[in-house]
Formats: sequence, structure tokens, C-alpha cells
Amino acid sequence: MFIPGQIYNRRHLHQLYGGQQQSGISTPSQHNLIMLFTGEQGSQYGYQDNWTDDGVFLYTGQGQTGDMIFMRGNRAVRDHAADGKDLYLFEYVQPGQVRYMGQMVCTGFQYRQAPDREGNERRVITFELASISAFDTTEPVETTEQELWATPLSDLRQRALATSVVARGPSERKQQSYYRSSAIRTYVMRRADGHCEGCGQEAPFRTSAGRPYLEPHHLRRLSDGGPDHPNWIAALCPNCHSRAHHSADRIAFNEQLIRIVREKERHVSPR
Ligand SMILES: [Zn+2]
Ligand SMILES: [Zn+2]
Repeated sequence: MFIPGQIYNRRHLHQLYGGQQQSGISTPSQHNLIMLFTGEQGSQYGYQDNWTDDGVFLYTGQGQTGDMIFMRGNRAVRDHAADGKDLYLFEYVQPGQVRYMGQMVCTGFQYRQAPDREGNERRVITFELASISAFDTTEPVETTEQELWATPLSDLRQRALATSVVARGPSERKQQSYYRSSAIRTYVMRRADGHCEGCGQEAPFRTSAGRPYLEPHHLRRLSDGGPDHPNWIAALCPNCHSRAHHSADRIAFNEQLIRIVREKERHVSPR
């Protein structure tokens, strides 16, 4: 929906989607997306957002004075996958004009100490963001797949939901996110148990590994890549998957899928 490298007028973005116009993290309430803006004033408070050698973008959280905490925008970024929200990153090229850098996944965060606007030392949250395209191109290793198919379903669900282990570097947390993304996908395939979660029909064929072929579809987000919460992914046959994206009744169909998945999840994991 945004074109990487293209320049957008920030005010225009807010006319289209809403969301806070002044802050670095914008969370439109009517859309399942979060817009992140970098490069305008970060360096003022001692931190410049930047890429690590491992392809992780370090993005400073929200809050100009005092310790940063996980409220509002910071909470939204940390929990975007569980909330089924897409994360779009923009960088300022001049006042009011931003370049779209791509869709990201929050793979972790770290704390740093830095002075705030008034010169007082405080805790700063730095988010670790990885490009979502890395998740699409990283095919799960077959040994990992086998292990994921052999794990009891409820254990697998736990693994799919486990948040990053603390005290590891950004690169390791990114790897962990890849693993979690595979775990979620496999979990959803196994929850479907060989039958499309849209029409209930048997999967149309088996893969070369001998597993029923179904496609993961993200129910809230616009893209089908990256990690998500099992509540927001359905395993669909190719027909139903096309219907979910392209049919005239796609909105109603997605709502129906959300109800089906929610009902199934209630049985897998009563809460
Ligand atoms: Zn189907
Ligand atoms: Zn889809």
C-alpha cells in the first residue's frame, strides 16, 4: 500500500489514515496499522535511530522527559504482532516530507540510559525492527519444520507466543523472531488438521514433505508475512485464500474467518 523509496507528505498520510500528527509513533484508531517516523528530532536527545550491521533498525521510543514506559505508542509497537497491526517505517527527508522505508517487524527492544530534554538521566526504550521481507524469504529449515510438527500442539502454541528471551543481542532476538514466525505458521497448519479453515474442505493436495497444503492468511493485517498472533491467522485452501483477498465479499468473509478461528482457539486454549 506504500511504495518503498517513495516520498509522502506526512499531513496527507494523516488525512488518509488519521493518527497523531506530531509524534514519532502514530497509531490510527480506525486502521490496523502503525506509522513510525524517524530522523526528525531523535538526535536532539542524544540518540539517532540507526541500522546495525545485522540489519536491525534501532528505533528510539516515545517520551521526551523521564523514564520511557510501555504506554500508548511504545506499547503499540512492542505488541503490534499480537495486536495484528502492520508497522510502517518512514524517514524524514525534509520538514513535512517522509520517505517510506518499508514494512517492519518489532523483534525486540533494549533499554539505554540517556539524558532527556531537561538534561536528566533517564531510561530510554530502543526498539529493534527487522524488515518484514526477511521473514518471507527465510524459509524454515526442514529439521526445524519436523521438530515443530512433532511437538504437542499446546506446547507449540506456547512457543509461538513466547516473547523474546531477555539479555540477548538484537541479532539473536531477530533469529528468535524467525523461529517464532515458523512456529506460529506450523501451529496454524496443525490446528487446521488438514482441512481449510474457510470452507472446511480437505487440503487440495500434499506437499513434497507429505503434509496437507494450506496457506497462512493474516486476518487483520494487509500483508501475509511475518509473525502474528494465532488468533489472527487462518489456514486456507488456495480458493478461499484468493477469496479472502480479492472477492467482492472479502470483508464479510474475513469477519467470518475471524469468528471461526476464535471459536477454534477457544477450544485449544481456554482462558
Ligand atoms: Zn477453503
Ligand atoms: Zn492472505
